[in-house]
Amino acid sequence: MQDAHKAQPTTSTRTPRGARSQTPDAAAAATQSVSVRRAPRAGRHVPDAPADADVAGIAITSARRVVDATSGIRKIDVVRYHERASRVLLPHLRDRPVSLVRAPHGLAGEMFFQRHATRAPIPGLTQHEGLDPGHPPLLTIDSEAALVGAAQMDAIELHTWNARAAEIERPDRVVFDLDPDPALDWDCMIEAAAMTRALLRELGLEAFCKTSGGKGLHIVVPVVPLTPETGWEDVKAFARAVAQRLASDAPTRITATMGPEHRKKKIFVDYLRNARGASTVVAYGVRARPGMGVSVPIGWDELAQTTGGAHWTLHNIDERLATVGKADPWAGYARVKQRVTAELTIGLEESGR
Ligand code: ATP
Ligand code: MN
Repeated sequence: MQDAHKAQPTTSTRTPRGARSQTPDAAAAATQSVSVRRAPRAGRHVPDAPADADVAGIAITSARRVVDATSGIRKIDVVRYHERASRVLLPHLRDRPVSLVRAPHGLAGEMFFQRHATRAPIPGLTQHEGLDPGHPPLLTIDSEAALVGAAQMDAIELHTWNARAAEIERPDRVVFDLDPDPALDWDCMIEAAAMTRALLRELGLEAFCKTSGGKGLHIVVPVVPLTPETGWEDVKAFARAVAQRLASDAPTRITATMGPEHRKKKIFVDYLRNARGASTVVAYGVRARPGMGVSVPIGWDELAQTTGGAHWTLHNIDERLATVGKADPWAGYARVKQRVTAELTIGLEESGR
């Protein structure tokens, strides 16, 4: 139990419906669920049960176990997706601390949200000691083997930080998470996303959009630090100012205040994804929700044709991957070099009042 308590800050549980809890018992269960597995040898997973398959050099156990009864998706389908999509996933994962949503008993069972290394490491994941003081190492997924290894260890969702491990105090993107009131038409989301983009453009900033694979959209703004001192607080202040300005521009449609009571018939623009340690599901990452949506980067010209946050799922993602190979809607992302400044934030705060 002592060890389990030690591990408490590293894991929390998530119920199948996505609600969050962080009880010591759940953390203990999480620790146990990983510690019964034997330690890896030379980067390869040595499973307790005989392997059913070998994918990218990783032994896959319980390959045919159904993860999602709704879609019939099995563990091996997630594993093979990670292998197949590694070319598009890895650039978004590499060197970014990652949190995992693990579902050892499928979506119907208890799920674990894991931020740090546990005593039984997931083979292939890179550990970064000292980046999160007082906690075990943070993790990154930097190779195809690590991606497949994560799926072997029942990691379905992969959520990344807004900074790289190499420069952990310098966030290199801002994320706006657009969450609709379930009663709203998807068209309202399209409109709110377009509004967000328009405001960012007014500020001289280019933004990129992806479906969340769940209910909403994520808008991502790549940034480079203005000075070595520009850190998490500055970026969060900017994000808050943008969200509040959107809410003041369209008070009947948008709110920047968390909680369902503020979101009635509105879209919540969540800027809290920009704090140190916060994370967002990776582009091309799978969701641990019925139907198994995938978060997919889209071009702004495609937004109007989307039908929801789970427009793409593990069932139709291959069609999308085929087109991305020819024309990546985020092709320009890496070339964008833009900054958020204190002046921008102050200007927004003054105009938003
Ligand atoms: P949707 O479009 O449906 O809103 P989303 O990806 O925007 O999907 P959630 O899946 O609700 O939103 O996740 C919210 C964020 O909270 C995630 O990015 C993740 O980093 C974090 N998170 C998720 N589960 C937990 C948990 N159990 N404990 C702590 N943080 C969590
Ligand atoms: Mn969301």
